[in-house]
Amino acid sequence: MAMLEVQNLSVSYGVIQAVKDVSFDINEGEIVTLIGANGAGKSTIVKTISGLLKPQNGQITYQGQDIVHRKAPQVVQAGISQVAEGRHIFAEMTVKENLQLGAFLQKDHDQTDKTYKEIFERFPILQKRQNQDAATLSGGEQQMLAIGRALMAKPKLLLLDEPSMGLSPLFIKEIFTIIKELNERGTTILLIEQNAKQALAIADRGYVLATGNVQLTGTGKELLANPEVQRVYFGG
Ligand code: ATP
Repeated sequence: MAMLEVQNLSVSYGVIQAVKDVSFDINEGEIVTLIGANGAGKSTIVKTISGLLKPQNGQITYQGQDIVHRKAPQVVQAGISQVAEGRHIFAEMTVKENLQLGAFLQKDHDQTDKTYKEIFERFPILQKRQNQDAATLSGGEQQMLAIGRALMAKPKLLLLDEPSMGLSPLFIKEIFTIIKELNERGTTILLIEQNAKQALAIADRGYVLATGNVQLTGTGKELLANPEVQRVYFGG
C-alpha cells in the first residue's frame, strides 16, 4: 500500500477548475515530484492534501486513512507537513520563535528541545541567527527556516512547494542537497518544482501536469530522458 494515495482528485475555485481528475501515489521513502507550467494546479494539489482546500471529488488516503475530511492541524498531527510556496515566515518574529510555531502540536518539551537540536545541526546558520528577526535573513536562509519550521512537527511526509523559487543558483543547489539528505534520513517527500530538471534528477518518480491533468508519469530518469519533457520543460 502506498503511503499517500490521491485518486481522481478535482478541485475548483468557484467556476475555475484548477485540478481535474488527478491520481498519483507516493510510497514510503520516495521523493516524488510534480512538475508542470504555471497554473497547472500543483499548489492547489498540495493545499488540498494539507487540508487547506476541500476537493469537489476524489479521495486522499494517508497510511490507509481518509484525510480529505480532516482539518489542517489534524493532517499535521497525522505526520504531513507543508512548506508553502513563498515561504510565509513571520518576519517580525525571531528565527527561534518561527521554529517554535512549527512545534505547536508538540506537548512534550523535552522532545521539542531535541528537535531544535536536530534542526540546528542540519542548519547551523539558523542556530547562529536564532535570536535575529526572520526579516533579516537572506532569501535562502528564509527558505531553510521555512523547511526547519515544517520539520519541527517531525513529519513523515514533507510537502515542498517550489522550494527553489527566487533563490540564487548556489542556494538552489544547496536546497536540492538538503532535500536529498532529508530523504536519506527517512522523510518521504512530495516536491513541487518549476525547476524540472533538478527536481527529476533527485526524484524517484515524477508526474507531469498540464492544465490540471496528469499527462505523463515515470521514474525521474525516464522523465528526464523523455523528448516531450525535454522539449516543453528544458527548452531543448
Ligand atoms: P504556479 O507554479 O504558478 O504556482 P500551480 O501549478 O501551482 O502554478 P495553482 O496555483 O494550483 O497552479 O493554480 C491552478 C489554477 O487555479 C490557476 O489557473 C490559478 O489561476 C487558479 N487559482 C489558484 N488559486 C486560486 C484562487 N484562490 N482563486 C481562484 N483561482 C485560483
